[in-house]
Amino acid sequence: MKSETLFKFKTLFEAQRREIFARGQGREDYLLPKDETIDDADMTSTEIEAGMKMRLRTREALFLRKIDDALARIADGTFGVCGGCGEEIDLRRLEARPTAALCVHCKEDQEHQEFAHIDGRRHKSLGKKLRLMESTG
Ligand SMILES: [Zn+2]
Repeated sequence: MKSETLFKFKTLFEAQRREIFARGQGREDYLLPKDETIDDADMTSTEIEAGMKMRLRTREALFLRKIDDALARIADGTFGVCGGCGEEIDLRRLEARPTAALCVHCKEDQEHQEFAHIDGRRHKSLGKKLRLMESTG
């Protein structure tokens, strides 16, 4: 990959990192102090809100890890190389999904494997259920 292209991605990742940290900081100010007089209904909505924030933070943490991984790949010179087959990842794919570590083909293979796995499990439990129905009815 050309060094100017690498630099472009590096700049992008660093900007995204800063954005995540800036957002995280803003949210601390946004947190409301705990009110001990709130009733159960309020408690529930507070809990839901806390859950939402937690999920958002987890998603951001995952994204941050992907960005850090990508920055590490830029540093060691493997950025843009597929972690599955070692071929170069299509630049159009990287532009659409800069943190991609697999080429389209390897990603598709991975998704098919995951799908087959889930599908296989589902069939197994369905078979069990059917046998159970046969034995009882
Ligand atoms: Zn590949």
